[in-house]
Amino acid sequence: MTGVVNFGAEPNSVELRELPIPEIGETDVLLAVQAVGICGSDLHQYMGKQSWKVNYPVVLGHEFSGVIAKAGRGVKHFAEGDRVVSETAAVIDSNSPFVRQGMYNLDPTRLGFGYGVNGAMTQFVKVPERCLHHIPKNLSFEVASLTEPCCVAYNATCVNSRIRPGDSVAIIGPGPIGLLCALMAKVAGAGHLAVIGIKADAHRLEVAKTLGADTVLGAQGEDVAAWTKNFNDSYGFDLVIDAAGVSATLKTALDIVRPAGQITKVGWGPQPLGFSLDQLVQKAVTLQGSFSHTWPMWEKVITLLSTGVLNLDKVLNRVSPLGEWHEAFDEMHAGKIVKGVLKP
Ligand SMILES: [Zn+2]
Repeated sequence: MTGVVNFGAEPNSVELRELPIPEIGETDVLLAVQAVGICGSDLHQYMGKQSWKVNYPVVLGHEFSGVIAKAGRGVKHFAEGDRVVSETAAVIDSNSPFVRQGMYNLDPTRLGFGYGVNGAMTQFVKVPERCLHHIPKNLSFEVASLTEPCCVAYNATCVNSRIRPGDSVAIIGPGPIGLLCALMAKVAGAGHLAVIGIKADAHRLEVAKTLGADTVLGAQGEDVAAWTKNFNDSYGFDLVIDAAGVSATLKTALDIVRPAGQITKVGWGPQPLGFSLDQLVQKAVTLQGSFSHTWPMWEKVITLLSTGVLNLDKVLNRVSPLGEWHEAFDEMHAGKIVKGVLKP
C-alpha cells in the first residue's frame, strides 16, 4: 500500500512511501480507508511546526472513515463490511484515572493516529474496536471522515460551553475548527454570531457568512473591541470561543466577553503571554479549556451529520486522490479551502 509518511522533524519531511499492510491484534480491525480529512495538525507536522512529540516515521491522518476489511477474533460488535468512523485515541492506559472516568481524551499517555501511531492517509489502517462507530448508509464516507473535527467543535461549543438560545457568541479564528464551532453555535441556538479573524482570513470570513455568521470582523483590520462597544447593550458577548492557533487572542477574548460571561479556549499555541488577567477577575469570567472528544460526542455528531442538522457543504471544499496530497495540503494551508479530504 502507499501512504503519506511524515519521516522527520525538518520542514517538508513528508512523502508518499510504499508500506506493508499492518498486522492486527485480537481486538483490532483492519480498516480499508475510504476518506481521510486533512487537519491543521497534519499541516503543522508537514511544516515541522508542531508542539507535540511525533514517532517518526509515521503515516499522517486521524480524521477518517472506512469499511472493515478484517476483524480480529476478539472483536465483538463489528464485522467485515461494516461502514465506520474511528476516534483518534489509538493508545490509552486503561489504568489511568482519567480513562477510568471515561475521560480518555485527557489521558497524558494517550497516543493518537497520525503522530503517535500510523494514521489513515493510506489504504489500510489498524484500529482498536474501542475506537469505532457505525455510520448510517445515507452518510457519505467523505462527510463522515470529518466527524472528528466536528466532535472537537461539539465538545468546545456544546459540552464545555453553555449556550442558551439567543446568546451572543463570538468565535475568534476562522480556521476549520473555528468555522465548525460557528456551525455548532448555530445548531445550539446562538443569537448574534460574530466570527473574528485577521486580514489573511478574508476568504474564510466570507465562508463564515455563508455558515450563518451575522458579523465578520478582521478582514479590514477592524478594531474588534471598539466594534463590540457599539454592539447591543455594549457589554460584550455571552460566550467567546477562542479557536485561533495563538495564545495572544485570549486578550481579545477578555476585551469582548461580557461580565459573568464565558471564554472557551480550543485553539492553542506555545507562545507565552504578556498581558494582565485583571479583566478575568473583574468581569468574573469563566475561562474553560476544551480538548479532543469522547464516545458520546461521536454518537451525537454522527446523528447531527446524518440528519442534516449539521451541514458541511460549505466547509468540505476539495476531495482528491491520495496522490494529490501535496496540492490539497498547500491549498488548505493558504486558506483557499476550509477542509480537504483525500481518497486513498
Ligand atoms: Zn484533526
